[in-house]
Amino acid sequence: MELFELGLLTARDGDQVRGRELLGEAFKMESMAADSVAADHALEPTRSVLHRSAASIALKIGDIINAKRYTEAGLSGDPPEEIREELAKLREQISVLEAEVKDYRRRPPRGLTPVQQVIREFTSAAPVDIVGLAEALGISVREAKLNAEISGEIFPDLLKGGASGYSIRVNASHAFVRRRFTVAHELAHFLRHRNRIENRLVDDRMYRSRLGNTVEGEAQRLAADLLMPRELIRQFRARGIDSPEELATKFNVSLQAMRIRLGIKE
Ligand SMILES: [Zn+2]
Repeated sequence: MELFELGLLTARDGDQVRGRELLGEAFKMESMAADSVAADHALEPTRSVLHRSAASIALKIGDIINAKRYTEAGLSGDPPEEIREELAKLREQISVLEAEVKDYRRRPPRGLTPVQQVIREFTSAAPVDIVGLAEALGISVREAKLNAEISGEIFPDLLKGGASGYSIRVNASHAFVRRRFTVAHELAHFLRHRNRIENRLVDDRMYRSRLGNTVEGEAQRLAADLLMPRELIRQFRARGIDSPEELATKFNVSLQAMRIRLGIKE
């Protein structure tokens, strides 16, 4: 695992390209080790441990095909319970990421995609667990000391990023409901504008960024959809909970955000 750690440290010190190369080399070594015991099903836990290492390094460098291959091969043996659980978790993360990279233009999937399923699962009760949703989609979420004029940011993060390789940092000094909105907003960028994030996408206090107003408007609308699903609002109103104040409390959002959502003019 030394190469793996060296790769992560190199990335942390600012050289993402070299860090990625080192992780690529680490993957080669781990995959060779796993291949050498692949046929030996009696060799547990070594066999599943080596497959898990190869799979998780592959996932870290975005090699979803190999991540899947080593996860499935690991599960096909007889891993101890703990390793089996880790492999099952890897498989779940892979299925979400795989859905992200597939091209559905020719043959659209029937029903919801895995990403839509995850979103639906997390947006079916209020308040929405927005951090849980981001993490389920493979993004690491952290609070950070940021300039007071910055709401948050999203960036590819080899060192600490989740399974997707991305991290979101939110301004720790902002109010709780605002931090939740920032997570939703950055998550919206991940879902809609990932190819434009590049090295880093930073949102100021007003949720403005280098991507301009049209793109920011899209992110704001999707953030509102994630935090305040219309169907859930409808259900609360049907039960007589319909003042902006009560709904803002139920959804754990600011009164201002809920008023905008309900279409109330200032
Ligand atoms: Zn933004």
